[in-house]
Amino acid sequence: MQQADEKLAGYLKRLDEGDADEDKAGTSGGSSHGDPRLAEKIAAVRGRRERRQALLEELDRTGEDQISLTDPDSRAMARMTKVGVGYNVQVAVDTKHKLIVEQQVHSQVVDMGLLATTAKAAIQALDVEKIEAVADRGYFKIEDIEACETAGITPYVPKPVRGSSVREGFFPKEAFRYDPGTDTFICPGGQTLRPCRRGRSRENVKIDYSNREACLACPLRSRCTKSYRHVSRLENEAVLDRMAARLAARPEVLGQRRSSVEHPFGSIKQWMNQGAFLMRRLENVRGEFSLTALAYNIRRAISLIGVPGLIAAAKA
Ligand code: SF4
Repeated sequence: MQQADEKLAGYLKRLDEGDADEDKAGTSGGSSHGDPRLAEKIAAVRGRRERRQALLEELDRTGEDQISLTDPDSRAMARMTKVGVGYNVQVAVDTKHKLIVEQQVHSQVVDMGLLATTAKAAIQALDVEKIEAVADRGYFKIEDIEACETAGITPYVPKPVRGSSVREGFFPKEAFRYDPGTDTFICPGGQTLRPCRRGRSRENVKIDYSNREACLACPLRSRCTKSYRHVSRLENEAVLDRMAARLAARPEVLGQRRSSVEHPFGSIKQWMNQGAFLMRRLENVRGEFSLTALAYNIRRAISLIGVPGLIAAAKA
């Protein structure tokens, strides 16, 4: 829009200059100032501007932040170091056989918030009481971790290092030790931070902890804060503490996740030659990927037990 406005301003300026030249020369009838296609160019830029204005209004109306002109359901998503327009495919893969247990396709750009829905569908597909679900840090969301625990799923998701303190080069929250017995934090300077404020973070109750006097006299202050340090904790954060303890006890599960979940993606892309989706619109893409996952699982089962084994299993 800004580019169009700048272009239009330039064209209109040229038109004005043309008119002024004609006035000086005593002619009339309008001038394109040496460019016979100026009026055409102005109309084209105005048309483009109107189309973009309509798209902006559409975004306002729907509350979306993207419009794809190729497929209205697809979204621009980060793909390695690039951005591609497409869909977000989720798979739950069993670590023993590398079979796809559950697959889903979403328009949602980020993975955050999709762990519980995929893991719950996986536990149902497997028809078991309990499973362990390992996901990368992009899935770290307390509501999802809690929902998994409630549904009998033991989640393992590493915590991403986020937050303004980290961005500013200050001690991360992990440098502060929470003591559930006294409901306090012990900071890197050995001081005790106590609850000072209650608020909300999305659906959760958030409690801030601080010790203003200790910070003001602290020799580590330049590494910790600009004034005095607050550390926040959600009321239900014990669920994250439990997960951190599980991960500390079994860090190898993260490597296991990579080798399991990348197997179907690598096979589907390299050996089954699946590039971009052939279908358009979410429901159609869901159908397409469901067939892809089925084909992968059949191939995988043949690799594991052979065609006779597969036929025998299908008959059983
Ligand atoms: S600045 Fe405050 S929170 Fe940070 S180490 Fe010092 S006393 Fe602890």
